Formats: sequence, structure tokens, C-alpha cells
Amino acid sequence: MKNHTRVVVIGGGIVGASMLYHLTKLGWSDVVLVERKQLTAGSTWHAAGGFHSMNSDPNVARLQAYAISVYKEVEEISGQDVGMHLTGGITIAATTERWEVLRYEHERHRVLGIDSHLIGTDEIRKLCPIMDTSKVVGGLWDANEGHIDPYGSTHALAKSARMAGAEVYLNTRVEDLVHKADGSWTVVTDKGNIDCEHVVNAAGLWAREVGRMAGVHVPIVPMEHHYLITGDIDEIAEFDGELPLILDMDGEMYLRQERNGVLLGVYENNSTPWSVNGTSWDYGESDLLTPRLDDIANELMRGFERFPSVAEAGIRRIVNGPFTFAPDGNPLMGPVRGVQNYWSACGVMAGFSQGSGVALALSQWMINGETQGDIFAMDVNRFGAYASKSYAIEKAKEFYENRFLLLCPNDEWPAARPNKVSALHDRLQKSNAVFGSSFGLEIPLWFAPKGSAPVENPSFRRSNAHAPVGEECRAVREGVGILDSSSIAKYEVSGPDAVAYMDYLFASRLPDLGRVRMGPLLLPSGHLKGDMTIMRLAEDKFMITGSGYLQEFHMLWFEQHAGSKDIRIVNRTDELSTIAIAGPRSRELLSLVTTTDVDNASLPFMSVHSMDVGIAPCLVARLSFTGELGYEIYLPTVYARSIYDQLLTVGAKLGIREFGIRALVSLGMEKSFGIWSREFTPDYTPVMCGLDRFVDYGKTGFIGREAVLADRDTTPEHRLVTLEIAALDADAWGYEPVWYKEEYAGFVTRGAYGHTVGKSLAMAYLKSQFLDSSNNEFSVHIVDQRRPATILPAASYDPGGLLMRS
Ligand SMILES: Cc1cc2nc3c(=O)[nH]c(=O)nc-3n(C[C@H](O)[C@H](O)[C@H](O)COP(=O)(O)OP(=O)(O)OC[C@H]3O[C@@H](n4cnc5c(N)ncnc54)[C@H](O)[C@@H]3O)c2cc1C
Repeated sequence: MKNHTRVVVIGGGIVGASMLYHLTKLGWSDVVLVERKQLTAGSTWHAAGGFHSMNSDPNVARLQAYAISVYKEVEEISGQDVGMHLTGGITIAATTERWEVLRYEHERHRVLGIDSHLIGTDEIRKLCPIMDTSKVVGGLWDANEGHIDPYGSTHALAKSARMAGAEVYLNTRVEDLVHKADGSWTVVTDKGNIDCEHVVNAAGLWAREVGRMAGVHVPIVPMEHHYLITGDIDEIAEFDGELPLILDMDGEMYLRQERNGVLLGVYENNSTPWSVNGTSWDYGESDLLTPRLDDIANELMRGFERFPSVAEAGIRRIVNGPFTFAPDGNPLMGPVRGVQNYWSACGVMAGFSQGSGVALALSQWMINGETQGDIFAMDVNRFGAYASKSYAIEKAKEFYENRFLLLCPNDEWPAARPNKVSALHDRLQKSNAVFGSSFGLEIPLWFAPKGSAPVENPSFRRSNAHAPVGEECRAVREGVGILDSSSIAKYEVSGPDAVAYMDYLFASRLPDLGRVRMGPLLLPSGHLKGDMTIMRLAEDKFMITGSGYLQEFHMLWFEQHAGSKDIRIVNRTDELSTIAIAGPRSRELLSLVTTTDVDNASLPFMSVHSMDVGIAPCLVARLSFTGELGYEIYLPTVYARSIYDQLLTVGAKLGIREFGIRALVSLGMEKSFGIWSREFTPDYTPVMCGLDRFVDYGKTGFIGREAVLADRDTTPEHRLVTLEIAALDADAWGYEPVWYKEEYAGFVTRGAYGHTVGKSLAMAYLKSQFLDSSNNEFSVHIVDQRRPATILPAASYDPGGLLMRS
């Protein structure tokens, strides 16, 4: 056994083996994998081995599609049979609603490069003669789905890595991790110590234990999961070909062929978390759990109805095994904040679909310092301290039980809520707010009319929120609105080296004292890492604000670049509340609650002042995402209730109205303001999305400078535009294809109805060659039909930006 190496991967399941292979594939061969028993000795050995590329996040879907090519690659390199059955797969719809969603999904596959096809029941029966299609409406066929041998694929990956120089130590258990002062590690095993630069936690069922060895809480929980294998079925024995992988979401089951029978797996509504306090070191290799047939009886009955011959075939074997789930069902990968050189490759719920994608992205991150493209949906830093053990259990259970639920874009799931609440929560409740959840915090989405239940109907079309949100928007544009924006992330950077640090971190010029500036963060590749607002509070003190759900993501980046600089970085999000007021009468309102001059000369657009609001010492920044005259008031959370009440009382005579995030998004869309995760992500560069106007190209020495300079005068493949869509009763949500005549021209990032301009709007990345095309030949596919669209030459509301400066 080596006593020094570059990377130790802990765990020899499908994820650890994929990780080892990808590190070598990308050029690091001095790497080892340590496995406490044999390869596959966790969840991997008893998996059904199914793989598919569908995922609600497009980048995860792309990485899932990549997995198939890896299996073929390692089979060729290693000579080890991976047991590939590329049967193709059908996702079936048994309700008209599901069928509509599948058709929508099919359109979006064009954007993702997934070559799927809609098929009718005749074709489904031809491909899968054992299915009773009497209650099936149709299906979505993807040729790149199937199943693989868990043993063969894991061994092929490990062997390919070994052939490239990696080493694998079996029957070797990691017992402890010692972090050294220089950031490197000593991995303590029962066979001796290994010093290394990086450790990767790919310990699957034991990821929580391996997390604890480094003081890391891993918010996952194993869930029990069943499938059964039948005896031979005549129709299958006589069938010329192999059954496809069937995903029957309405039946909450999946099925594939196993010899001349089938493997039928179910996601029951009565789920069972397993070993919630930790996984025993004694579990594994060939252990299975006792089947709980009563708990899965309903789903099995549905399976027998859809596949009648399965009921008659007799059960040859029932498998109940545990595998891990993060709170939202996506993997937890990436560098762990606060623990240098400790990398997470955990919570990979669909290891055979996702293992290679996780491994590719994580290897890129370790070796190149960034991933190719946006992987936030899998980033371990999308969760914070709020994702406690109990939270993880409740959410994982909810995810498991609803895995195949027909999910609408406005769905807000209820488990583990309320978790964190702002100081204004009960005030908002009294006003009939409908809440969403962001980074564990309850946020007001919109306000339901008095007397009606504060609940939104899940829908792909305009919901019952549409009219009330319209009223909120008009109230802001015509008078004054007030919003609890406490979810905004607030960071303070101060100290003797603060200016040098900020100049290095941000691509923009820093604001002067008392001023505010938009600040893009860039990756070394010149792609976006963040879109933030910088406020200069003193010569050497700044407040940075950004999207609240990115707190860990931002803090990791800030800390990674602090080096030995003499600075202090503090996340003040929870201790400071934010109240936003906006609208033509917002200055009047502010003037009624402060003794400070707030006229345009004293508090101009994009300035920030310390002042009392009511009796509270506040920081007031003059800016608003609504595009109106507006202010963000930052104040210690203990004052938030009294000041909110005072603003409402004083504002009553000005017709003040509470508004929510939905109205904010609509108003911002009318201004063509982009947001993070949609228009701005690591997939895009400043030139593509227009953030180049905030980049100070004359400045030296900031992250991404060389790349962004080189990119400056090139024509990007895509550019961001705003579209007006002749929509009917539904607006775009995101990732809908945009067509120019019959040609694919680009994709929507986000849509919203612009209530005060009376237009259905969307932002979209269009391929540059279509930007000068005739503007009346575009269309966008929304829900179940193509609707005509036009590119807007400027923002649909106040394009000159005069109102916010007034
Ligand atoms: C019944 C069932 C059916 C499934 N069907 C599918 C399917 O069809 N498709 C799909 O994609 N997924 C499926 N899954 C899920 C799949 O099994 C998991 O996603 C996958 O196995 C996770 O792999 P892993 O490498 O992360 O973890 P694991 O397989 O748990 O591997 C972790 C490894 O780490 C080792 N280890 C842990 N701690 C230490 C230590 N301290 N020192 C050394 N070694 C250590 C363990 O021994 C183990 O081998 C199924 C799961 C179950 C239970």
C-alpha cells in the first residue's frame, strides 16, 4: 500500500469507481481507492442497474446522458463486460395531464439534445407486449435508456483506472481522517496510513460516518427500496427482442426484463427511512433487508394491473435494499465549505444514471478549479446548516414518496416547513401570504385575497395566483409596495486588505464610498460565478448582497480566494432583515419615517446611506429590482417587526400594498432584468448575457480577466434576448425551445406574465445567427402548443430606466 498519494477516494461503489476512473481520464494517475470490503459492497451490488437521462434539471440530464458513453468506453478499455442492455426506455402517461407534461418534456428534450419520440399505445404494445395499455394515453421513447450489470460496470471502471496508474485497496477500512495544517490529509486505515492532498467521500451508505471523521454533516438518509423478480413469462420467452425499460410514473413503478421474466420496482407512498442514526460497519456485501410487502401492496397491485402476466408469473425473489437520498433527491457533490481539500461525492440516488456525471464534474473541479457548465443542482453547497438530520429525513421521505408525482413548476412541497421564518412571518401570515421556501427560509410568494385559502393550485398554466399578483404589480407601479426581502444574502467584507481583495474577486470597478454597483464574479474561464450588488460602507468596508439560496456557494468562493489577506468576511444574512419599498410614492413614504433627507440629490440612485428609519438604525440602499423608484432597507432583525408595522401604518394613506416574490419577478421581467440560475449561470459569459457592461476591462488582476478579455470581441454562440409571446393561458417556465420557422433557434431561460405591460414575456438565449432574422417568424413551445413570439428591441417597461433614477 502506498503511504503517499494525491487523492484518496473512499468507497468502491459505482460512484467511487467512477470517480477513480475520471481522475485518471482527466490526467491524475497518482490516485487510490480504499474499499472496506469488496467493490460494490454498499448499495451498488443489489441495484436494478437501470439508467436514463431524464431529470428536471437540464445540466443533470446532460450529465446523465453522458454516463452511457462511459460504460461503452470502460468496457473497451478494460475488457470487462459491463452487461449493457441498451433496450431503450418508455416513460408512459396514464392520465391526460401526464400526457400533456410528457409532450412538453419532449419539446424540452430538443434543448437538451435528447433524441426522444412520442409514441402511441399501438407502438407501446409492440415494444412491450406484456403491458395492458387500455388505461395508457401514450409514451415518450428514448433509445438511450436501459440497464447495466452493477458488478460488471463497477469493476470495469476500477480496472480502467488501474490500467491508467490508479491503485485499489480492498478489505481496507478508513477509520479516521486527520486534517493537517497545510490543508492536506492523513487517511487512517486499518492497514496503515496514507498521506494525500485530497480526500473524496464516496462512501455511499456510510457517507455520514466518513463525513463525521472530518467534522462534516452530510444531509442524507438511506431509504428502503423494493423490487421483485418474477419467474418466466411466456410472452417474454416468445418475444423477439428485449423489453424496454418502462417508467410508469402514474403507477409509481419501473419495470425491465430479467431473463425471461421481469424486474418490477416500486416507489411506495409509505416509505421507510433506514438506519437514521448511522450505518453499522457490519452491514453490507450481501445483506438485504426484510421485505415489507404490506407497505408496497398498493403499488404492486397497480403493477399487476398494468402488467397482468406479472401477477401470474410467480415471484422468484424480492429485494429490499437501502440507498441514500439527499433532501431534494439530487447528488451532493463538490468541495465542502470550511474543510479544505475534502470533496463530497455522496447522496447519489441513481448511481447508474448519475455516477459518471458526478465523477466527471467533480474531477474537473479538482483538477481545473471549475466544472464545465452549471452543476448547482448537484452542488453540496446548495444546502446550509438548516439541512439538519431531521430535515434530511423528512425531506428525503417526501422526495421518495413523490418521486414520480406529476410536478408543476409552481409546486411548493410541505415537508419540514416552516423551518426558518423571518421576523415578519406572522405579519405576512395575517395578510394571507402564500409562502415558498428558499434555503430553509419561508418567503412570501404572493398574497391570496382575504377570505380565500392561502394556497396555490399547482399548474403549468396560469394559476389562481395570476390575478392577485397582477394587482400587486399594479400597486407597485402606481403607488407604493412593500416586500419582506429578508432572504437576500448579505455579506460584509472589511479590513486593511479589503479593497485589494474585492478588486481581485470582482470583475467590476468597486463603488465609491456611499455608492452601490453591480458586481459580476467570474470563473478563471471567464464564465459567470455570481451576479452581486456591492455597497461601499467605508473605505475598507463593503456589504455584498446576492440571492439568499447561494449563501454557502458564495461563502465558499469568498473564503477560497481570501488567501493570507488581512480581511474579515462575515455572512450577516440571518442577523439583518431586509424590507424593500418600491413605487413612485416610496420616497414620500420613506421621508415620513426618517429625519434624514431622502430627496434625489441627497440619496441618489445607486447610493447607500446609514440612517434611522423609525427608531431603527438602518442602512438604506436606493435601488429596486422592480425598475421603479425604490429602496432596500437593511436593519437588525430585532427591529424588523416594528419598522414593518410602522411603514404599513404610515403608508396606509399612500395606498401601500404588500407584494411578494412573484410580483417582483414579473416586474423585473418587464425591465428585462436577468436573475441567477436562469439567465446568469456558469454556462454563460458576460458578453452572452449583457453583464459585460459591468466588467471593467481596463482593470488588472481580477479572476477571469484574461479569458474575459479574449472573449470580449468574439461573437458568442448565443445571446440573451427578451421575447414577447402570444401566449394563451400559460406563460413560459424555462427550457422551452424557440423556433425560427422550423429551425431550432435557442431556448427560453424563464418566462413571466408582465402584468403592467399586458404581455407574456420570456428571456431566452438565441443562437447569434438568428438575431437579425425576420422578427415575425419566431415561435415558442408552451405546454402543448407553439405560440408566435417576437424579440423585443428593449425592455417592455421604462426602457430608458428614467423612473428608477427619478
Ligand atoms: C433495491 C435498489 C434498487 C436500485 N436500483 C437502481 C437503478 O435501477 N438505477 C440506479 O441508478 N440506481 C439504483 N439504485 C441506487 C444505487 O444502488 C445507488 O445510487 C448506488 O449504488 C450508490 O453508489 P455509491 O457508490 O454512492 O454507494 P455504495 O454502493 O453504498 O458504495 C459505498 C462503498 O463505500 C465503502 N465504504 C464505506 N465506508 C468506507 C470506509 N470507511 N472505508 C472504506 N470503504 C468504505 C462501502 O463498503 C461501499 O462499497 C438502487 C438501489 C437499491 C437499494
